[in-house]
Amino acid sequence: MRGRLAIPLQERSYGQTAIIANVTAEQPHQGIAYERFTDSGPLAMLPMTEGRCSLVWSARDDQVADIMALADDVFLQRLQHRFGYRLGQLQRVGRRVAYPLRYRQATESVRPRIALIGNAAHAIHPVTGQGYNLGLRDVAVLADLLADAARERSDPGEMALLNRYTEWRHQDQRRVALITDSLARLFANPLPPLRFARNLGLLGLDALPGLKHLVARQFMGLNGRLPRLARGIPLR
Ligand SMILES: Cc1cc2nc3c(=O)[nH]c(=O)nc-3n(C[C@H](O)[C@H](O)[C@H](O)COP(=O)(O)OP(=O)(O)OC[C@H]3O[C@@H](n4cnc5c(N)ncnc54)[C@H](O)[C@@H]3O)c2cc1C
Repeated sequence: MRGRLAIPLQERSYGQTAIIANVTAEQPHQGIAYERFTDSGPLAMLPMTEGRCSLVWSARDDQVADIMALADDVFLQRLQHRFGYRLGQLQRVGRRVAYPLRYRQATESVRPRIALIGNAAHAIHPVTGQGYNLGLRDVAVLADLLADAARERSDPGEMALLNRYTEWRHQDQRRVALITDSLARLFANPLPPLRFARNLGLLGLDALPGLKHLVARQFMGLNGRLPRLARGIPLR
């Protein structure tokens, strides 16, 4: 729809590609998500079903073809070297898929009778694991406004309502995109002083529970005005 309406995009490549696969490790993940910040981008092992982890391995675009072509056992050795032994020996890897990482922001999110949500409106780097969350918050806000329109028997596609959706979502979308984009660039920068500063920043965040709580609330979408679904109130 965005393409058909010729809504312009702000778009930029991160020069990184995320290689995705399911990985089985020797030790249970116990519901813990791991993320390592490497010189070619973040490497994450996220807990999933049947004891498996969902791997997100960001690599520089020029490294991806080689990594994708590796035999499974060599791939697991390389991954083990980068990830370490927090989960013991990495034992199996499923099918690998590569996603080029791009920043994308639609310059308009509504047109008469149309609202863009999720990745159609904004795509961000996975470093903060926020893309899907941001999309769910778009859905919750739009549902809130549509429920009101249904109750009042007003037109759900009119611009006045859709503009309220844009206004409500604007700050959260921009803030998360800005934080994520800054972190993606900061962690990709190999300069030693910057590396030192960001490690210090992560340690500081861990040592200051108040600050950590504030950042977590932002990423859980609990700052600002919340739609009813986020407050556990049913839409009627
Ligand atoms: C490597 C990686 C790791 C991520 N990790 C996290 C994470 O840990 N946490 C998090 O919150 N988010 C994460 N994200 C982001 C998350 O995946 C996206 O934000 C989310 O998938 C967006 O959902 P969506 O439904 O808006 O769009 P999409 O998932 O892109 O779905 C859109 C669908 O529409 C289909 N489609 C497109 N055009 C058409 C058409 N013309 N007709 C029919 N169908 C069409 C597409 O094929 C696609 O299936 C990650 C993203 C990547 C790339």
